[in-house]
Amino acid sequence: MSNYEQLLEKAFDLLPGLSEEKADFKIPEVDSLVQGNKTIIKNIAQIADVARRDRSEIAKYLTKELAAPVTYDDQKLTILAKIQQNTLNEKMKRYFELYIICKECHKPDTHVQMIDRGYTTIVCEACGAKYTVKNS
Ligand SMILES: [Zn+2]
Repeated sequence: MSNYEQLLEKAFDLLPGLSEEKADFKIPEVDSLVQGNKTIIKNIAQIADVARRDRSEIAKYLTKELAAPVTYDDQKLTILAKIQQNTLNEKMKRYFELYIICKECHKPDTHVQMIDRGYTTIVCEACGAKYTVKNS
């Protein structure tokens, strides 16, 4: 076997693990609707479920990111501004990347251990990693 073939084989050995992990978890798409001067996220229950976070945390994040007041109930989350669905999806993607998906093993099995002085400490239940994220 040539060096090149050996390298190729090595590369393919590494690939399956990576692609499997990515396929495992999908950041949920935001299902939103503009109504007058408000934007309603209709599937907040599903998003909060997948994230395993209180919707109050998601609401707090969106309030800061969108610089608009946010309210929520069991069914929906309401932003008191007109926000495009694309923008909401970008914000949600960033939220998941920052606060939900483990930096070490890339699984979404994390929980918030502590929020202190603008930093969130996140613990991964899958691999045990613990790290701190600066809140935006
Ligand atoms: Zn992990």
